[in-house]
Amino acid sequence: MAKKLVIVGSGPAGLTAAIYAARADLQPVVVEGFMKGGQPGGQLMTTTEVENFPGFPEGVDGPDLISRMRKQAERFGAEFIMEDLDSVDFANRPFTLSNSSRTITAHAVIIATGASAQVLDMPGVKQFWGKGVSACATCDGALPIFRNQVIGVIGGGDSAIEEATFLTRFASKVLLIHRRDEFRASKAMQKRAFDNPKIEIVFDSVLEEVYGSQFMEGIKLKNVKTSQISDYACKGLFMAIGHTPNTGFLKNALEVDAKGYIKVKSPSTATSIEGVFAAGDVTDPHYRQAISAAGTGCAAALDAERWLLANDLG
Ligand code: NAP
Repeated sequence: MAKKLVIVGSGPAGLTAAIYAARADLQPVVVEGFMKGGQPGGQLMTTTEVENFPGFPEGVDGPDLISRMRKQAERFGAEFIMEDLDSVDFANRPFTLSNSSRTITAHAVIIATGASAQVLDMPGVKQFWGKGVSACATCDGALPIFRNQVIGVIGGGDSAIEEATFLTRFASKVLLIHRRDEFRASKAMQKRAFDNPKIEIVFDSVLEEVYGSQFMEGIKLKNVKTSQISDYACKGLFMAIGHTPNTGFLKNALEVDAKGYIKVKSPSTATSIEGVFAAGDVTDPHYRQAISAAGTGCAAALDAERWLLANDLG
């Protein structure tokens, strides 16, 4: 029998949708997803302390926050399946969502599969991930290990400059490292970087290596014009080279924008297919915060509930 609602993804958007949908007695099934060898729970699972999620004045560990949301959804009867999906069929109703071992049918679906930060696969990056190397300044920048230290930021877009500017609150100096000699960021953002005395711009440079012992202690950069390698002592390295929405399994079943983010009929969470809703970072290249994802997860559950009722499927 078809489920009323399947939620794909178990970050803040998917879990908030699950809490609302379960309380509305939609008996949602949450396909948690391993993200192809990763773990369920989304980007917060790789974050240490979250200090900006309302309701936690002392801060909360990313995995702890996710575990609390999951328990809250379970308390109201949400069912969890820890698997990745390979494909969907949104052309026929009820919809089907499948992988090699299972096919689930559903009248309504919420896609909340998030986005993955792009990461440079260079020596030392994996070794020092969470030990100085990160892809989220808003999540990790205020940690004590970065206070009054030199920190590197890689990227030349708005995110890189926003993150570099944010990090100057804590760091003694921020190295803003870009592979070209011109930023992609807006002129206003660029001015912020050029005017900030704590930001040192390192143009024409790419990462060669991150080194250290228990924690990272420095980076080697290669100048792309001269091929010269330079060594910079620094205790942090933030990658801000863009995100990729996790939509591979959808295989063009929904309309997406030029960068692959699912298009929603804002301010609702409706997608190009009636009965399929999307929430969180998979729709959002701009804010990318746990709280904004949770907010759209709530909206998606309310939208799905109303749609199911209106179509006598609730
Ligand atoms: P982005 O605009 O795609 O910029 C990514 C940057 O990373 C580019 O400078 C790119 O270099 C660099 N990069 C990509 N791959 C790289 C690699 N392998 N090695 C080294 N550098 C690499 O991404 P974003 O900055 O995350 O911004 C995403 C969107 O959100 C944009 O539309 C942006 O305007 C928006 N945004 C807005 C704000 C704001 O207005 N406050 C803040 C954040 C983001 P190249 O330039 O050489 O390609």
